[in-house]
Amino acid sequence: MVSRRRFVKLSAVAAAIPLFSQVNLVSSASAAAMAKVPTDDPAAVALKYVEVATTATRTDKMGVAGSEQICGNCRFYKDSETPEWGGCTLFQNRLVAKEGWCVGWVPTA
Ligand code: SF4
Repeated sequence: MVSRRRFVKLSAVAAAIPLFSQVNLVSSASAAAMAKVPTDDPAAVALKYVEVATTATRTDKMGVAGSEQICGNCRFYKDSETPEWGGCTLFQNRLVAKEGWCVGWVPTA
């Protein structure tokens, strides 16, 4: 027979297990979102993503000269805690270089 004290302890542990699992899932998702986009990632290759915009052939787009296009002034770029890197919605919020570029570049509104 399980004592009342032991039952309360076991119940508390059982209740905490799903909470730990959820925390783990959230932190895994955050870690994935905060990973840098490798330049050899298939999506990066398809979008011709580079970490240094000046190394890409950028053509004028939407009235903005190619030479002025960088991730940092793209509509899909979101600042992060790291000044040189930010999340890109085109890459599932993974990090791209602020001075980078890809063919998906669109000026900020
Ligand atoms: S969509 Fe914009 S922010 Fe994202 S990689 Fe391309 S240029 Fe950079």
